[in-house]
Amino acid sequence: MYRVACPSCGAEVVFRSTISVMAVCEYCRTVVLRELEAVREQGKLSNVLEDASPLQIGSSGVYLGRHFALVGRIQLRYDAGFWNEWYALFDDGSAGWLAEAGGQYVFTLAVNDATEIPAFDVLRVGAIYRYGGNSYTMSDVRSARCTGGQGELPFAIKDGWEAKVADARCRDRFLTLDYSDDKPQAYVGNATPLATLNMQLLRDDDAIVATAGRLRGTPQTLACPSCGSPLDFPAGVATQLVCPACHAEVDCSSDTAMLIAKRSELASVKTTLSIGDVGTIAGRKWSVIGLLRCRELEDATSSWSEYLLYHPSAGLQWLVESEEGWDQVRVLDIWPESASMEQAVYKGEQFRHLYEYASVVTFAAGAFNWRAAVGDKTWISDYERNGVKLTRESSAQEMGWSRSERVSAQLVGQWFGKPALAAASAKRTTLAGGRESLRRPAIYAMVAFLLFNLPIWIASGFDSDILMVGFVAMILLWIPANQDFDG
Ligand SMILES: [Zn+2]
Ligand SMILES: [Zn+2]
Repeated sequence: MYRVACPSCGAEVVFRSTISVMAVCEYCRTVVLRELEAVREQGKLSNVLEDASPLQIGSSGVYLGRHFALVGRIQLRYDAGFWNEWYALFDDGSAGWLAEAGGQYVFTLAVNDATEIPAFDVLRVGAIYRYGGNSYTMSDVRSARCTGGQGELPFAIKDGWEAKVADARCRDRFLTLDYSDDKPQAYVGNATPLATLNMQLLRDDDAIVATAGRLRGTPQTLACPSCGSPLDFPAGVATQLVCPACHAEVDCSSDTAMLIAKRSELASVKTTLSIGDVGTIAGRKWSVIGLLRCRELEDATSSWSEYLLYHPSAGLQWLVESEEGWDQVRVLDIWPESASMEQAVYKGEQFRHLYEYASVVTFAAGAFNWRAAVGDKTWISDYERNGVKLTRESSAQEMGWSRSERVSAQLVGQWFGKPALAAASAKRTTLAGGRESLRRPAIYAMVAFLLFNLPIWIASGFDSDILMVGFVAMILLWIPANQDFDG
């Protein structure tokens, strides 16, 4: 422990860690740099925004059998939201990072044996990075700016500091590449629900309500900054709202609502379920908080609805309603071991590749845990095994996996107390991905495949093995596109 007087206001500033190079004065927000045995001030750092986090400086826990305490934090904002990086100090003097976003936690430790880290500018979502015998898939590439901080940190930052980071996933493992310094640094870890970290000295609910005015996940209402309509959302879970009345896009990831875009040109859309509808699924009451209308990029006549459902302790899930019926969808925390144009392997089981296509959002309303906007395009790969579908969705910034299962319209009608839903659906034909629709997906699967893989080939320096796999996959895609499905 190293105590100094703040060079600006004279208050005591404490360095708990010998590897910390800066600490923020609690009283005047001055960034205090430690250099040899002297200290120097370097600008100010804004206070953190209240985000109803249960964590605080001083909270302690156990990660992989080692005791740690949180000694600092940085808040970072990027165009799709906002997250906390907590600087954790272990008893042996080493350190790690606990990232917190929307109630999800990832613990990572710096590693020094990562080699051939690609430059940030060539990183692409979907590219493979190999570390420690594992193949990590880039899931998230973003630039974020620091909006506040507290406590002590291992590097010097001030307001406006920019972080360039990329996350990669391999099954349940996370790898983060941080480009903030001259030399990129790799961190490796895994998703760790707070309950598994044995946390002590967390903020209690009263303390959170006293400072943040709300608990994470509790219903909150905000007046639309564009038209004044009330917007309902779960606090700390939703990061963006789309006003159902005027379609304005509003950022609600921190304690001030910000208007992102007005979309007065959009007309409202009639959907089977509406925002605010409550359904009882397996004994839990789920609320519809957001809805999207989407269509295939190449087929203006196609369309389906996606409903985002929220439960305070069970989190989020989706219901998707299409011509073919209803699907219940959950985002996968553990990613498949591998995925190709033929199959995906998930927990040792093989899922057969079905379709490749691109979707575009044509309408959005309600609350979302990312930045949803009309015109968003997503590349989709579907895989299937015994009626269970795995779907990979990727955009230029992000990639994710989900698992879906068909549910009957009758059951959805029961959940939401809409008996008419069950009756109406009986008239529908069950196309179940009709043969006709296979041909076009096969053709633009090739286009999607090329677009999707080009950055990976570039990133790999046109590695011959990767190119060969791509070439074989192209041939396999070309064959079904030219077969007569009616035969
Ligand atoms: Zn001070
Ligand atoms: Zn509005």
